[in-house]
Amino acid sequence: MERAKSPSTGSLTRQRRGGLTTARPQDGRRSNLAVVMQSLSDEPGLTRAELARRTGLTKVTISDLVAELIDAGLVAERGTAPSAGPGKPAIGLEIRTDARDIIAFDIAQPATVRIGVYDLAGGQRSVATASLGAARGGDAVAALGELAAAAIANADRPVLGVGIGSPGIVDAEGKVLSAEILGWTDVPLQALLAERLGVPVVVLNDANAAASAERSFGGGLADAIRVTITDGVGAGIMLGGELLIGKSAAAGEIGHVVVEYGGDHCRCGKDGCLETWISVPALNRRLRAGANIGGGPGSRSEILAEAGRRLGMALAPVVAALDVNEVVIGGPIDLLRGVFVTSAADLVSERTHSRFRADTTVRLSALGSEAVLLGAASLIRLSTLGIS
Ligand SMILES: [Zn+2]
Repeated sequence: MERAKSPSTGSLTRQRRGGLTTARPQDGRRSNLAVVMQSLSDEPGLTRAELARRTGLTKVTISDLVAELIDAGLVAERGTAPSAGPGKPAIGLEIRTDARDIIAFDIAQPATVRIGVYDLAGGQRSVATASLGAARGGDAVAALGELAAAAIANADRPVLGVGIGSPGIVDAEGKVLSAEILGWTDVPLQALLAERLGVPVVVLNDANAAASAERSFGGGLADAIRVTITDGVGAGIMLGGELLIGKSAAAGEIGHVVVEYGGDHCRCGKDGCLETWISVPALNRRLRAGANIGGGPGSRSEILAEAGRRLGMALAPVVAALDVNEVVIGGPIDLLRGVFVTSAADLVSERTHSRFRADTTVRLSALGSEAVLLGAASLIRLSTLGIS
């Protein structure tokens, strides 16, 4: 069974298995604690008796688990719930969302690293930016370690962990297999930082982080694709509420799927990749070129509509093959709002419509530029407390 190498590191493998279920007895208790936390996250105010009914655990076990969570400062009694009859009044329980700080990093742009601090419900305490300067390779790891150590030192509350959304290919153990922009190849970033910082660390691909954020904090469905459009194009795939990582840890890497034969040359060596159509630089380049042509087929809305259709072409077979019912698109709202999204939606619908399945909704993300930070925070919450 795959598991994290160290108890101080979180692991996506847990998420793929849907929880903290493992073989060792101490992990059994950990798993029960996670079940209680998830139940209280889903339904704040549950009593001990209700928790026992919902989880199938005995009342004695529940009382014991709740006592441990209250001791840790993670759960509080919320006063007496309306009594259903004679006897001891029932006491509702709730998660103390302000009990810990979660620190999240978005390092897609090394010159403007974003650092967010969140509470246990994903509420933002602060967002700041910092720079990794010209550091690459091992120096970039060290610089990131310094930034994270400083963030921990400055935190007002005990730190639950540090989540990091990284560009490139990241495996389920938080090893960055490849991130060109940072000069990283096979860098075990999660393990290195967990050792350096002494708190749980989770490292995951930024598009996967954004997909997690949609599920945890953006109202996203359990079976969905989250497309992230920045300087590049990536996607995170959620199936049954769990992130799909893939054999080469590259699930969702749709940016280099060809959507136009003989199209523009791409940095990957192929021609006509999705990225040459819908990355932010590509969209802006096409809009500038279109502006020179004037109205008609070169108009802003025609260009954005065609770009949206190219995204739809790349998405349609994935949507049909995986039977997901939602696609969420995140990126610069001024480019994507309106005709881009509606064209992508129309094309996906046209190509995947079937009497065997419900139509797939294609919509813009409501999370804005915070999605990667929120997703990194959500993975820390999942790997340490078991709340998805
Ligand atoms: Zn390419």
